[in-house]
Amino acid sequence: MTKKHHSEQRVSVLVVEDEESFIDALTIGLTREGFDVAIARDGQQALALFANNEFDVVLLDLMLPKMSGLDVCRSMRATSSVPIIIVSAKGEEVDMVLMLEIGADDYVTKPYRLRELVARIRAVLRRRERNDQVEADEEISLGNLRMDIDARRCFVNGEEIKLRKKEFALLRLLLENPGRVLTREVLIDRVWGSDYVGDTKTLDVHIKRLRTLIEDEPKNPTHITTVRGVGYRFEVTKS
Ligand code: CA
Repeated sequence: MTKKHHSEQRVSVLVVEDEESFIDALTIGLTREGFDVAIARDGQQALALFANNEFDVVLLDLMLPKMSGLDVCRSMRATSSVPIIIVSAKGEEVDMVLMLEIGADDYVTKPYRLRELVARIRAVLRRRERNDQVEADEEISLGNLRMDIDARRCFVNGEEIKLRKKEFALLRLLLENPGRVLTREVLIDRVWGSDYVGDTKTLDVHIKRLRTLIEDEPKNPTHITTVRGVGYRFEVTKS
């Protein structure tokens, strides 16, 4: 497998989108941000381009002519682990759990700000690079948070906070996936596995405790945000 160095090489984005206004805005905006942009206007075109080119990331609109974005995503996943960000329109009925299950890495809802989209793209690329590394990171740093994995210590603004075992595992999982929605099922499975007993509130209790430790305003969290009905996300940008 060839490894790409995103800092030295231009990142190529496949934009699958059927609305001309979005196509124009994305082409201009993403090119300005230093990305190479390829456009597909429907699902079939997307799969044809995908089969013959190598892309670093795919931005995939859900409502497309001929073929749905979900089918395009499934089809790409059958042959590739390329990061896929799903784009849905406001008010569209979206089964986010299903979307993540079929292999989407993240999603954004229209209308979105270009800045947010670019942050999401960079986040999935960073995550992919990190996952490509053979050795596990011994230390994770993000914003004002730092986790020393081997020593099992965690610092907020340089000050150590005391975490219990499951809290540490939960925060680590969130930090290892910045910007990504982690479903309740995934969090529970990865942190507790078969240890998870009792009611479904256990996860929320742990999240609440983490927020009191790392958030400026635990009741108004900007780090660990709730994705209603789906799970939680560690935010990559504060705004
Ligand atoms: Ca569309």
